[in-house]
Amino acid sequence: MHFETLAIHAGRQVDLATGAIAPPLYLSTTFQQDPDRGYEYTRMDNPNRAMLERCLAALEGGEAAIAFSSGSAATTSVLQALAPGDHVIAPNDAYTGTTAILRSLLQPWGLQVSFVDLTDLDAVQEAVQPNTRLIWVETPSNPMLKVTDIAAVAAIAHNAEALCVCDNTWATPLLQRSFDFGADIVVHSTTKYLGGHSDLLGGAVIAKTESAMAQRIRQIQATGGAVPAPFDCWLLLRGIQSLPYRMRGHCDNARKLATWLSQHPQVSTVHYPGLTDHSGHAIAQKQMTDFGGMLSVQIRAGKAQAIALLPHLKLFHRATSLGGVESLIEHRATTEGPDTTTPDDLLRISVGLEHVDDLMADLAQGFERVVNDE
Ligand SMILES: *Cc1c(COP(=O)(O)O)cnc(C)c1O
Repeated sequence: MHFETLAIHAGRQVDLATGAIAPPLYLSTTFQQDPDRGYEYTRMDNPNRAMLERCLAALEGGEAAIAFSSGSAATTSVLQALAPGDHVIAPNDAYTGTTAILRSLLQPWGLQVSFVDLTDLDAVQEAVQPNTRLIWVETPSNPMLKVTDIAAVAAIAHNAEALCVCDNTWATPLLQRSFDFGADIVVHSTTKYLGGHSDLLGGAVIAKTESAMAQRIRQIQATGGAVPAPFDCWLLLRGIQSLPYRMRGHCDNARKLATWLSQHPQVSTVHYPGLTDHSGHAIAQKQMTDFGGMLSVQIRAGKAQAIALLPHLKLFHRATSLGGVESLIEHRATTEGPDTTTPDDLLRISVGLEHVDDLMADLAQGFERVVNDE
């Protein structure tokens, strides 16, 4: 079946007791013990979570999906499934939360980590050690939109008998079929595009096969307990139904906005993989069906003007996060804090589903007012 059909139907069934089309919300934490039904206690499993996991597995095309209370919990669980002394290769520009998980939680626990530029395949190969168990890919990256060649990195990983894990949050399963390019495990912050409405926190791990690694991650889910609440599973399953149509709107708007911004005199650089002069354009074209809804811009006059633009905007919310229907803009270096390597003149934009002409008009008046203020 096609993605649009799976998004609406996968994992669901009409409620047997009532015929309800929208799934009931199962808030019960405990269930009458009955081996035929299988549910016992909501940390172990819950009907809303089971529906969601079946849907996520179908959308990504994997055998196992394991839902978590946040993208960060999903990331932590994948890494905890390794053992102290194992070695991981991770991007030197990973999502700040992922870097923090590696540095402050898992390195002290005994995981060895090499942070490298994943777009430099020689550097990735050189970082491989006899104890390398996993290579972490995040593409397109945050906030520079660098594009990593999933197939090439997966080949390096498999050659070393290591796993290739892809954080597919920015691309979504619609735009990037990471398993087709050799990834073994996909991670999502479902807080972003999958949920799509900035009203739930969630994460997911999807494994290509029902491997020992997948079973270990499921054990960490049930035993560690970072599980999503039934209502968050319910909201997420509902948000997913419109994912393919929302993504088309996000991609169309982002492409138009990126093109317009790249011609704007107050903008020095636009980072968007859909632009033909973007460093990752060719690889993105190979491994993505469209280029997503995220872009970053560098403001020609520098940090002060970049920050000065924000309060003049009427439609764009000044906020972090991404993937919701409303457009968001942030000064990314401020969000990332003192250790950031993000240029200080950079604004990151999550392009929403408003009419793109209104978004351009809002930015245009904002840019004019920054100039007039000087
Ligand atoms: C937001 C995000 C995460 C973390 O997800 P949370 O749901 O906030 O814990 C991980 N990876 C990427 C690429 C993200 O954008």
